[in-house]
Amino acid sequence: MVRAKRQDSEENDQLRELKLVCMDNLLATPEVRVYFKDLQSRFLLVSAGGDAISSPSGHTLAELIGKTDFDFYSQEHAAEAFKDEQEIIRNGESILGKLERETFHDQADAWVSTSKMPLRNKHGKIIGTFGITRDVTAQVKAENALAYQVLHDPVTGLANRFALMDRLGQALVAMERLPGRVAVLFVDLDHFKEVNDSFGHDAGDQVLAEVGRRLSRFSRHADTVARLGGDEFVVLCASLSDDDDVSLIADRIVEGVRPPFVREGCDLSVTCSVGIAFTSDPLAEPEQLIRDADEAMYEAKASGRDRYRVFDPSQHIASTAGRLKVDLTHAIESGELFLVYQPLFSLEDKTLVGVEALVRWRHPERGIVPPDEFIPFAEQHGLIGRIDSFVLDEACRQLAEWTSRDDWPIGFTMAVNVSGRELSETGFAGIVDEAIRRYDIAPQRLCLEITETAFIGAWGGIQETLAALSLLGVRIALDDFGTGYSSLAHLQRMNVDIVKIDRSFVENIGRSDRDREIVAAVTAMSHALGMSVVGEGVETDHQLDTLAGLDCDQGQGFLLARPMSAEAVAELAGGNRLGG
Ligand code: C2E
Ligand code: CA
Ligand code: CA
Repeated sequence: MVRAKRQDSEENDQLRELKLVCMDNLLATPEVRVYFKDLQSRFLLVSAGGDAISSPSGHTLAELIGKTDFDFYSQEHAAEAFKDEQEIIRNGESILGKLERETFHDQADAWVSTSKMPLRNKHGKIIGTFGITRDVTAQVKAENALAYQVLHDPVTGLANRFALMDRLGQALVAMERLPGRVAVLFVDLDHFKEVNDSFGHDAGDQVLAEVGRRLSRFSRHADTVARLGGDEFVVLCASLSDDDDVSLIADRIVEGVRPPFVREGCDLSVTCSVGIAFTSDPLAEPEQLIRDADEAMYEAKASGRDRYRVFDPSQHIASTAGRLKVDLTHAIESGELFLVYQPLFSLEDKTLVGVEALVRWRHPERGIVPPDEFIPFAEQHGLIGRIDSFVLDEACRQLAEWTSRDDWPIGFTMAVNVSGRELSETGFAGIVDEAIRRYDIAPQRLCLEITETAFIGAWGGIQETLAALSLLGVRIALDDFGTGYSSLAHLQRMNVDIVKIDRSFVENIGRSDRDREIVAAVTAMSHALGMSVVGEGVETDHQLDTLAGLDCDQGQGFLLARPMSAEAVAELAGGNRLGG
């Protein structure tokens, strides 16, 4: 009995000791700020991390005791903190991981993640609050930069394709409530390549920026001016009434782009061709509207450039879309589609770790057609399911053939692109399961690449399919990361194994600090969440070294290897070293 009691009190002593050690450690940790406050929200004790509040306002730690947030922070921020703490004291419930922007009297600010809990004495009575705050300014800034990057074109500062599609979608939906018309003006510079070739890319970029400024000037205030890439721009005119005359805007644009730009004493001049497409149908497909305007722009080019043309639907149906659909259906059935494979390398030891399967079309008249020219079309016209099934089957067959060889690299993976539309179809996981069984493939060797935009666009619909795929054991990669609108925080909710950083970031990694920081933040965050990271579109040694320096796991790009035939991959795997 006596012994039991002694043991008990020894254990209590140990526990007390442990609690004190824990508290000492916590109070001394510089990355976090720990504080105790009384019932009136006055500081009782502040940890070493409290330097963060003492420094901007010039207070020492000791001086904080007895003060309140109102002594350091802006009225607004202090009032909110005070309200939260009084709430905790009243109902005893904690507030966990709240993201707050702290603003100080001297205008300085910081982003923090704060958790606050009731502080109780040994009888359990609440005697104040206890808080832990972590500075997350760097992460929030990286996210904001990413959000800006995601919606803007870096050369002109205009909206980019993603922002444009978003606004076009909104403009169409708005016609449900308020009937009217939407016009898309597709603007393409004439012979722009000559400017780049004779004056260099810097001059080219300056011309693009100036054209961007002029387009903004000649369009209406509420219009969206966007750069799609290259020398292609779009002006979106939403909520047009019958009186609005879009041809006036088109005239102004064609005439306004013509006057020469003065650069370093030289006159540079370009002209542009404009195609216009209209719709008053809220259910119109945004991509289709852009394609119609694009087609009208080609008409303008064909009739001599430096002018505009309006899209004529009757001509269109007979010509392009109808024929393409017949051709593509025929291509799928008669085996004109085939695969090439682009190698992926480990950035650590430069060994071959896998390939991405990319589809090509061997067209009897046009030669080899790249996927960008028929995949979006196939998605629109209900043909993508058959293409993706063909690619999945052929890629699995090839993978099985390769990995049956004794000398094939261990851990080698095959990545296959899957359209977002496919994923929201029920039964897709079943198709994958069947392919794996048919060729007896280890599921973790197969990786399905899904674009970030598909992830977000079909958020609800694809969750079940993704869960089923996870159960099968295949890997999921988030493709083209950075081109859709997902923040770093989104990553956490997505059930993915691999993040593929889009080519546009890798391209600028050597030139822009912002892009480098974004890649660093994405990599760190992905690693923290147990995902690996692939840098896409590596074209220079500098990009390769920078990615490796930022701890990126794998690289893919023309510098390392171009998409190639299955035979060429086999040869490479024999050497199994970059450049070896
Ligand atoms: P993606 O999935 O982002 O594929 C990578 C694309 O970037 C490929 O173009 C590849 O050739 C290109 N690329 C790779 N390294 C570099 C580089 O260093 N510099 C440059 N400038 N480009 C590089 P590709 O083969 O033309 O494919 C274009 C897109 O078509 C793919 O983009 C993918 O979204 C889609 N796609 C291709 N095959 C399939 C498929 O079988 N099914 C589906 N649904 N989509 C596919
Ligand atoms: Ca891909
Ligand atoms: Ca990609």
